[in-house]
Amino acid sequence: MAAIARVVVHLALNREFDYRVPPELADRVRIGTPVIVPFGRGEARGYVVGLPARSPHPKLKPIRDVIGKKALIDEGMLELARWMAGYYLAPIETAVRAVLPGAVRARPAGHLERLLVTPTEAGRDPAAAQRLRPRAPKQAALLDRLRTGESLFLARLLRETGATASAVRALERKELVHVAGRTVERSPGGTRTLLPTAPPKLMPQQEEAFAAARAAIDGRNPRVVLLHGVTGSGKTEVYLHAMQYVLDRGGGAIVLVPEIALTPQTVERFRGRFGDVVAVLHSHLSDGERHDEWHRLHEGRARIAIGARSALFAPVRRLGLIVVDEEHEHTYKQEETPRYHARDVAVVRAVREDCAVLLGSATPSLESWHNARRGRYALARMPHRVDHRRMPLIRVIDLRREREREGRLYALSRDLFEAIRDRLARAEQTILFLNRRGYASALVCPRCGHVARCADCSVALTFHKQRRRLLCHLCGAAHPLPDRCPAPECRDPAFRYAGLGTERIEEVLAKVFPKARVRRMDSDSMRRKESYAEVLGDFRTGRIDILVGTQMIAKGLDFPNVTLVGVVNADVSLHMPDFRAGERTFQLLTQVAGRAGRGEVAGEVIVQTFTPFHPAIQAARRMATEDFCDQEIEFRRELGYPPCGRLACVTVRGPDEAEVTRAAGGFAEALRPMLNPAVRCAEPAPSPIARVRGQYRYQLVLRAPRARDLAEPLRRALDTFRWPRAVTVAVDIDAHSLL
Ligand code: ADP
Ligand code: ZN
Repeated sequence: MAAIARVVVHLALNREFDYRVPPELADRVRIGTPVIVPFGRGEARGYVVGLPARSPHPKLKPIRDVIGKKALIDEGMLELARWMAGYYLAPIETAVRAVLPGAVRARPAGHLERLLVTPTEAGRDPAAAQRLRPRAPKQAALLDRLRTGESLFLARLLRETGATASAVRALERKELVHVAGRTVERSPGGTRTLLPTAPPKLMPQQEEAFAAARAAIDGRNPRVVLLHGVTGSGKTEVYLHAMQYVLDRGGGAIVLVPEIALTPQTVERFRGRFGDVVAVLHSHLSDGERHDEWHRLHEGRARIAIGARSALFAPVRRLGLIVVDEEHEHTYKQEETPRYHARDVAVVRAVREDCAVLLGSATPSLESWHNARRGRYALARMPHRVDHRRMPLIRVIDLRREREREGRLYALSRDLFEAIRDRLARAEQTILFLNRRGYASALVCPRCGHVARCADCSVALTFHKQRRRLLCHLCGAAHPLPDRCPAPECRDPAFRYAGLGTERIEEVLAKVFPKARVRRMDSDSMRRKESYAEVLGDFRTGRIDILVGTQMIAKGLDFPNVTLVGVVNADVSLHMPDFRAGERTFQLLTQVAGRAGRGEVAGEVIVQTFTPFHPAIQAARRMATEDFCDQEIEFRRELGYPPCGRLACVTVRGPDEAEVTRAAGGFAEALRPMLNPAVRCAEPAPSPIARVRGQYRYQLVLRAPRARDLAEPLRRALDTFRWPRAVTVAVDIDAHSLL
């Protein structure tokens, strides 16, 4: 029986407090139990998120009481939280927090309850009002208003009659009205009714994929199906069929989409097919909406949950299927504790709840591809676009030769320029992609070689022309624009800006195509919540000719009139110091290319690069996804990188570089003897981004054939190592980015 409970208090959601569990409550206090605790001078409601053996605080106050009978988190979900805590080396309370949304934790009974007033038969009789009129005119007015017999909300009734609540209570005592609470739900879909859409007849390749999904849903192994389908091959339609199949058998489903894809467009497609049984869980919802959607699922009134990463933990009953759309997306990896990967945890949850998983992508992650190749996952392929529309033609422009030919380098190569001009002439649309926001990525002085850097982070400052600032993209620091080279010993006024950003491309387009309607879409121009939908709406209806943007525009958008996609510089993501850079670039190029030619006219893609023969670029050009994956896996195998083995990254941070170095070195030393010989442990080294917000960062990268070769010794070393006070340590199991 637990003696200590760790509690999240609703008043301070981001902190935990320890309390003593009094013996009389001990058998009722579990993880997830709502409790009342002393807090400050009063008391507060909260949730038990952990039952630690010890507490760092010597004197603990006791829990006052347990509210309600039921913990909101059931045993199965708690087990999953425990598994995450164990696998990702995270404190249990952070895992509990991940599986139970804040909005639900915060309001044990937060339905928007409103009181509804209904007249009884006696109350509807005009004689009743007549009798009351002389001595209680307000009560009479209330009855007059209710004469038609319909129910009215208390608030409205009081507003319209000018009566008070006590007058209503008096009528209730005389049994002339009933007052009852009715739960009103806030619906994120609004009150609009959607016309149900009928499912189309599947094409042969979709039939095959659907059959594979059915087999997994029916319980045949493997229970995970990887659906490799090119963009526009009809993957979503396969998800919809598989979900219908599950619903028909009385089950429920979860659909995970990358946050960026969670546009009204996507949601409507699911609501259009399944109507009200769809619950939407995403970050734009208010707490109240999220709370209601969660309870609709919990109580079985909704059976399909759709949302980003954390929707994985939705309380769907009789879960029969989890769909992970765009399963390769890195947004599925949470970059804070617990650093879980939603796709991987989906597979774990599916095994526990005996359900199927459908992973879909045009560019599968190497992890999933590896599992499919080894027969752990079933593989379904959809190589053709719906209606056999042609795949776009991809042309690679060698910027080195372009520079030789033109004598200098323009943002748009001659081919790209001409291609855009043709589209404008034919009233077709263009998407230009550049994964770098701002106007220029660096301020460089040609005389002294100085590059303007952030004082607190080891990155160059980006020039933002519209905001007239040099900005640090890591910490947000903003500096006024200098008029001379900032180096004190130089001060040359002839400094330059180098490296193109989206803002610059927008300006170039305005200059060379003055009549074109150009819009930019990146996190600078999309600061308002509605901007995204607005711009996409304008683009869809043809009010924009050229859309310029960062990865925001790379994915999931389907515009039939886009016949040209230009990649301004493919090298931006290729030269990241990260072993996944090639894979990321390949995926990005393929996804961007997929935006071209979704309609009747075949699309064209132009990719500008200084490294035209890089395997990632060549594979994207040939659309040889499976070859690329196989090849890349061979490289990874030689180096013991995932998916051929597991990886953990330990990052040590602190304001004092010497201390960080010492701590990282000491930890590595303490850890080494605990590792088995199969584990490769590099020397601690500065992270590629060596400093962020004034914190120095060192990393220790470990690779091993199996996950448990890493987790077990890491846990022991972390428990025993004495960290200096001024450093923090973060462990990332299956790290996705080593920056
Ligand atoms: P993906 O998810 O692979 O990009 P979608 O499922 O969005 O592809 O399908 C692309 C387009 O083709 C959509 O507009 C969809 O409505 C349509 N579509 C998909 N399957 C069929 C089908 N069997 N018959 C007719 N239209 C289809
Ligand atoms: Zn900075």
